[in-house]
Amino acid sequence: MTSCIVQKFGGTSVATLERINKVAEIVAESRAQNKNIVVVVSAMAGVTNKFVEYVQNLNASEGDPEYDQVVSSGELVTAGLLAIALKNKGISARSYASWQVPIFTDNCYGQAKITNIDAEDLKKKLEEGIVPVVCGFQGVSSENRTTTLGRGGSDLTAVAVAAALNAELCEIYSDVDGVYTVDPNIYPNARKIENINYREMLIMAAQGAKILQEQSVSYAMEKNVIVRVASSFVKGSGTIISGNASAKPFCGIAVTHHLSHLRISYEKIEDRAEILDLLKKNSINYEIYKSHCPKKVKIILDKRREPIAIALLKNCRSVSDVKPEVSRKHLSRISVIGKNCNEESRNQMVNLLKNNKIYVLDGVVYDYQIDLLVASNQLIEAISFLHKYCGLDQ
Ligand code: ADP
Ligand code: ASP
Ligand code: MG
Repeated sequence: MTSCIVQKFGGTSVATLERINKVAEIVAESRAQNKNIVVVVSAMAGVTNKFVEYVQNLNASEGDPEYDQVVSSGELVTAGLLAIALKNKGISARSYASWQVPIFTDNCYGQAKITNIDAEDLKKKLEEGIVPVVCGFQGVSSENRTTTLGRGGSDLTAVAVAAALNAELCEIYSDVDGVYTVDPNIYPNARKIENINYREMLIMAAQGAKILQEQSVSYAMEKNVIVRVASSFVKGSGTIISGNASAKPFCGIAVTHHLSHLRISYEKIEDRAEILDLLKKNSINYEIYKSHCPKKVKIILDKRREPIAIALLKNCRSVSDVKPEVSRKHLSRISVIGKNCNEESRNQMVNLLKNNKIYVLDGVVYDYQIDLLVASNQLIEAISFLHKYCGLDQ
């Protein structure tokens, strides 16, 4: 089988025809180094958001196959345009919708998981010297309907195609030149990470570092796909994500914005499990926040899910009262990631912040992760102290 590299280009990299031509140049340069390339593309920047807005205005949402049919369509346009741009440069190319590959998924519309990729046709095209340009984000269900892989899902398509082709490398091109210690768009002193291992990257992605979709990192980890994150605008070594153990005590900081805090009261202690189960069943992710009273539970959840959570809880007979904690409405969660995450470092971090007048509402230690809940207006200040404490400034 011909060896190959998968190159994925995100929304900002294909936002205009000019940028699509620039992407075609990157692909052409790699081809000139005798590399076989399979390209995966996202929709042009802003297009998927627009489509989500359309379906939501018609009251369709994730779970309805028509949602997937609409929101997956931006990728079709980009794949076709890039195939044309490549042909204009004298490179044989053809576009692929996911059903043409095909990329099979389960039937979980809006959040589908890839079950299998039949890569035979892609392999044939590579042997014929053709560059396949595959639509990211889409799949086909066992009901022969289009599915989508959750927001940011083109990363998953790229990693899964790389695994199916046993590719040397999966390159993710974006608007930043690698994975940084903190999102460089919120903290300009962040440093680029040269190497990071799957486990640390998985926590970074799960805790809000949207440079890679969380599912794509777990897929890469499971199939041992080496990933390189790089910029489509500037040249550079980027960041390599692999199974290599990391030497650093802390590797980075991720942030979850827009959290809110609900206080739920109930009459009988037994009601608690039922109430929490109701939220889970309705896909409302939450964390229990310091809760000592047996007839009250405080939860932290994504602020955007607050209205639906309140509506559900108000209609639940076991709930006697539900209230947002007004004084603590704007919260952010800072997740520090690395192998030195333990009780001792958590306590030192909390004290460091406290000595600098930053109050930590909650600090929880997990394996490789410390979560600190702070008021959103103190977020950047808190990050700057923690970044230094963790040795990430050097
Ligand atoms: P694409 O459209 O190329 O898929 P995304 O917007 O999904 O790009 O991801 C790139 C963005 O991820 C960057 O613009 C950056 O703001 C954000 N990001 C969050 N955390 C990090 C991080 N630790 N390192 C680099 N970028 C990050
Ligand atoms: N276009 C999809 C989205 O905006 C998939 C992606 O960009 O990875 O979520
Ligand atoms: Mg993305």
